[in-house]
Amino acid sequence: MKIIVIGTGYVGLVHAAVCSEFGHEVYGYDTDAGKMEAFATGRAEQIERHVNEPGLSGIIRETVGKYLHFSSRLESIIEGVDAIFLCLPTPARLDGSTNLDIYEGSVRHLAGALAGRKDKRRVTVINKSTVPIGTARHLEGLLEKGGAGNFGVCSNPEFLAEGTAVAQALEPDRVVVGCDHPEDFKILGQVYSQFKNHVKIKYIETTPETAEGIKYVANTMLLTYISFWNGVGAKLGEKIPGLDIDALRVGVTADDRISTWGSLVSNGAGGSCFGKDIRSLIYQLQRLGVNTKMLESSYEVNEYQKVYLIDRAINEAGFSFNNKTVAVIGLAFKHNTNDMRDASSIDVIEGLLAKGVAKVMAYDPLANEAAKEVFDPKANVLFEKIEFCDSPNKAIKGTDALFISSDCDEFRGVSGTIRSTVKPPYLVLDGRRMIPDYKELVENGYTYLAVGSTALVPDMPDMPDMPDMKDKPDK
Ligand code: NAD
Repeated sequence: MKIIVIGTGYVGLVHAAVCSEFGHEVYGYDTDAGKMEAFATGRAEQIERHVNEPGLSGIIRETVGKYLHFSSRLESIIEGVDAIFLCLPTPARLDGSTNLDIYEGSVRHLAGALAGRKDKRRVTVINKSTVPIGTARHLEGLLEKGGAGNFGVCSNPEFLAEGTAVAQALEPDRVVVGCDHPEDFKILGQVYSQFKNHVKIKYIETTPETAEGIKYVANTMLLTYISFWNGVGAKLGEKIPGLDIDALRVGVTADDRISTWGSLVSNGAGGSCFGKDIRSLIYQLQRLGVNTKMLESSYEVNEYQKVYLIDRAINEAGFSFNNKTVAVIGLAFKHNTNDMRDASSIDVIEGLLAKGVAKVMAYDPLANEAAKEVFDPKANVLFEKIEFCDSPNKAIKGTDALFISSDCDEFRGVSGTIRSTVKPPYLVLDGRRMIPDYKELVENGYTYLAVGSTALVPDMPDMPDMPDMKDKPDK
C-alpha cells in the first residue's frame, strides 16, 4: 500500500516508521523542511534532535530510502496513494477549544493535491490527531469543496505514550477505526493487516464520531485518575502523620478493578495531550449543555499540583526562596523523552522565579536542548537566571534547594549526590518520590518534602519557627 503521513512529529514519525517496517511504501510529508532532511539521513543524532523515542531511529535507519521516504512537496508524492494519515498539531485556544487552523489549512492544500491526481481510485484520509468529535465530517466537506474526488474521511486516533511509542505502535492494545464506508474499512484493514485478527489486540470498527470520542474519554479518564491520587491519596499522606502513601497505594490497587498505572503520586501530569484534551472535552460538553464540574476539578487539581510543593516549602518548612539558588532536575514532562510540552518543570521554574530565586541550575538527561528553547531569555528576561548543567552533580553543587520534577531512573541515586555535594541546611522537594532512603537524608540534617508525605524537617538552628514539624513522627 502507498501511505502518506502528513505531519512527522512524535505521532507521525513513529507511525510512518512502523508502517514502513510492516512493508508498506510510506512517504512522510512535513512543512518543516529541516525535519525532512534530518530524517532522510537515517542517522540517530539527526532524528533524535526532533523526535527522541527508544527504537525509532533504528527502524528509520533500516527502511529509509527503501520503504520510507521523506518529502516537503505533497504534490510530488500524491500519485497512486491509498491512505493519507493526518498527524498534525491540534493546539488549544485560550478558551480550551481546539484550534483547527493548521488542520484546515493542510486539508485545503491536500484537497488541491488530490484534485490534480491522474489516478482516480478511492483514497482514504485518516485523522490520527486528536480532534473534536465531528471533525471527520467537517473535513469531508472541506475536501469535497476543494475538488478532492473519490475519497473517504475516517478517524483512527493515536493512543501512544511518549517514551514507549515504538513498542506500543508495534503491538498496540487496541486499534480504533471509525469510518462510514466499507471501502475505507477495507483500506484501513489492509494498512493494519498485522493487527486485524491478532488475539491480543482489540481491533474496533465503529463510526467516526465514536472513534473521536474514544480518544477524548480515554485521555480524560487517565488524567482524572492521576488527579484522584494526587488530590485524595497524596493529600491524606501529607496531612496525616503515620499514613504511608506507598502502602496505601499498594493496598488500594491490589483490587483488580483499580489500576496501578497513574497511582504513583506526583507533581502533576504534563505532556502535549492531557491538559489540552481535557480542556477540549470540557468545551465540547459545555457546548452540549452538560455540567463539567468533575472534569474542571480534575484539570485544576493537576495544574496546581505542578507547583504546590513550592507553597508547602514556604508553609511547612519555613523556607524562603528569595535570592536562593535552586537546582531543578527532570525538565521533560517525564523520563525517556526530550518533550518539554506542558512539562511540570515549566511551572516549577516559573514559580521559583516568581518567588525571587537568584538562580536556577537546570538538568535533564535528554531535554536540556529542548528546554533551552522553552526558557528563551528573549521571551522572558527572568530566564537569564537559568543555567543548564550536564549532570545532576553540577546542577546541585552550590545550591540551597533541589526540586525533582520528573521520574528519570538516574534520580533514584541522587541522595548520595546530595550528601556528597551540599551541606545542610538544605531543602529537597521531591515531586516524584524518587528518594527511597530519604530517612538518612533527614537524619543527616537535610529537610525533605515529598508529594504524598508530611514534611520532614530536621532540628535546624535556622528554622526555629518549625517546632511542630519536629514532633511529628517520621511518616
Ligand atoms: P508534533 O507537534 O510533534 O508534530 C506535528 C508535526 O506536524 C510537526 O512535525 C510539524 O512540523 C508538522 N506540521 C505542522 N503544520 C503542518 C502542515 N501544514 N503540513 C504538514 N506538516 C505540518 O505533534 P504530535 O505530538 O505528533 O501530535 C500530533 C497529534 O497527535 C495531536 O493532535 C496530538 O494531540 C495527538 N497525539 C499526540 C500524542 C503524543 O504523545 N505526542 C499521543 C496521542 C495523540
